Amino acid sequence: MSIDNLPPLREVIAAHDLRAKKALGQNFLLDLNLTAKIARRAGSLADHDVLEIGPGPGGLTRGLLAEGARHVLAVEKDPRCLPALQQIAQAHPGRLTVIEGDALDIDPLAHLTPPIRICANLPYNVGTELLIRWLTPPAWPPVWETLTLMFQREVAQRITAAPGSRAYGRLALLAQWRCEARIVMDLPPEAFTPSPKVSSAVVHLTALPEPRYPADPAVLERVVAAAFNQRRKMLRAALKSLAPDIEDHLRAAGIAPTDRAEQIDLERFCALARSLATGPASSG
Ligand code: SAM
Repeated sequence: MSIDNLPPLREVIAAHDLRAKKALGQNFLLDLNLTAKIARRAGSLADHDVLEIGPGPGGLTRGLLAEGARHVLAVEKDPRCLPALQQIAQAHPGRLTVIEGDALDIDPLAHLTPPIRICANLPYNVGTELLIRWLTPPAWPPVWETLTLMFQREVAQRITAAPGSRAYGRLALLAQWRCEARIVMDLPPEAFTPSPKVSSAVVHLTALPEPRYPADPAVLERVVAAAFNQRRKMLRAALKSLAPDIEDHLRAAGIAPTDRAEQIDLERFCALARSLATGPASSG
């Protein structure tokens, strides 16, 4: 049984001639039971506005609406998809708004009423960029409560990685500083049409009311960027451009100057950012 009374997605794609374009990262989900399952991973939707980036022919959009989203705002760059999306909007009067445009050029969150969730099968070429923007708003907490996002599995692992692992780096620290982040679903290439070369995973991020440890966001970003730009170097070398007395700052943060970036947890990176923000480290 279908989750709604609209035609199956294969028919929608044929009717509107929606042949996938690689340049737009188009790998569609055509199984509506699967899209409803992804929508459920976002949490309860009935009281929430939901932002979806890249609805394409609307498989996940239909899942979000079937799972009771109060309102869905969908931003799609490919004008070929709009007639199919209008059909969905008509079947759910007042619950779906579609904006044709590039998600990197507009601020769709300004059009939504909190509480807000973001749920998307993101185009691979802009997924990380969008995630970083959502994780770095001008003030915390952000306007959104949760992000439920499909990524290439390798990117999902970088978001949820723990210290000591190869995937651990800037993305893990940025995400985990102010969010709870976990992989909630794995999808093989065959789940998509056309099938990409790699596996995918859905990551669910919940915004924490405040960062896990205090730190100035700009200083923390500078430290983490410098540390992982030369991840094989000892931190005293990788970070030497940040302060002449970097070894003292490292020690003040509980870090051995000979440690490497991937051994250092979030708590100590935040301590280092705080030490650097207060000026020269005391040599005592
Ligand atoms: N949500 C659909 C699904 O799950 O079947 C489609 C997902 S497909 C991976 C990514 C979608 O994002 C495509 O429909 C593509 O046209 C759209 N897209 C690509 N770049 C975009 C951008 N910069 N802004 C908005 N949409 C974009």
